[in-house]
Amino acid sequence: MNGWTLGIESTAHTLSFGLVDSEGIPHPAVSDTVRPDKGGIHPREAADHHKEIAHSLFQTLLANYNLSPSEIHAVAYSQGPGLGPCLRVGAAIARGISSRLDVPLVGVNHCVAHIEIGRQQCGCSDPVLLYVSGGNTQVIAHLDGRYRVLGETLDIGIGNMLDKFARAQGIPFPGGPVIEKLAKEWLANNPEPRLTDLELPFAVRGMDLAFSGVMTAAQRLLDNGAELGAVCWSLQEHAFAACVEVAERALSHTGKTELLLGGGVACNTRLREMCSLMAGERESTSHAPPRMYCIDNGTMIGLLGYIELQNGRVTPYEESAVDQYLRTDQTQVTWAV
Ligand code: AMP
Ligand code: MG
Repeated sequence: MNGWTLGIESTAHTLSFGLVDSEGIPHPAVSDTVRPDKGGIHPREAADHHKEIAHSLFQTLLANYNLSPSEIHAVAYSQGPGLGPCLRVGAAIARGISSRLDVPLVGVNHCVAHIEIGRQQCGCSDPVLLYVSGGNTQVIAHLDGRYRVLGETLDIGIGNMLDKFARAQGIPFPGGPVIEKLAKEWLANNPEPRLTDLELPFAVRGMDLAFSGVMTAAQRLLDNGAELGAVCWSLQEHAFAACVEVAERALSHTGKTELLLGGGVACNTRLREMCSLMAGERESTSHAPPRMYCIDNGTMIGLLGYIELQNGRVTPYEESAVDQYLRTDQTQVTWAV
């Protein structure tokens, strides 16, 4: 490809434009995230936000890179999974830019984009991915031409759980980073913590996970008088240990030796540490991309678009509709893994 590939991310709370250059090198995205004053994310309100800021955000991208639109030679967008109204805004912007510039359009799988940016950034070849984000929690590995979901949450995503628990304490979205901070502060004052009186359920079922029970139980600890910092610490330890356990089983079953973290919750230092410890114990390695590429970002969409275009895939307009429920293993992996 001669010019730049534009990537548009709009699956949920974030609208983001990112770029990949003609060599396939990713460049940092410009993003804007809805932060509702109260309550969770309303899909239509988030979509309205994306619509309102799209023009100025795109202009910021062009200005930051001193780029003229004619230097964009392809447009990639998140085709799914995600919130319908938000996805549709991104797809409409993508179709508009592609038609205006007369360049190819490619709709990509958001979950697969997390994997590919992680592989590119961390230089790992065939990892087990622990994908921990707001809406998704999956353990994924490449087998026979697809990224297969080996285990996943049966109720809510881990990030969603952290955000909901935080919201009940009056902490605004996103709650995950605040829980991390409160846990760290509490730990600094309690260097030898014990789980006594802070125990929570550990919801691993085979290769699957569940998080609503642990959230309810954490709230009950608080209601019974436990300190918020202590409960944040315990909640992280339990929820992350469950993810790490499934990831370890996946490494064991597949015989792979690289673990890769992705998704917003992969920004968490404690989770990164637990993954490194587990990987170290089984002579494997654990990798996490820079935080700007863990959270939802347009660059990863641009990267997967670039890769798919290199492998001959283009999305015709009549096939460019979004799919809220697109599964990780629906996307055929036509490139080298
Ligand atoms: P994503 O859905 O991938 O964009 O990620 C957003 C989610 O990541 C939200 O649920 C955040 O609360 C969560 N998150 C972001 N940073 C952290 C962190 N440091 N620790 C835990 N969760 C985090
Ligand atoms: Mg995501």
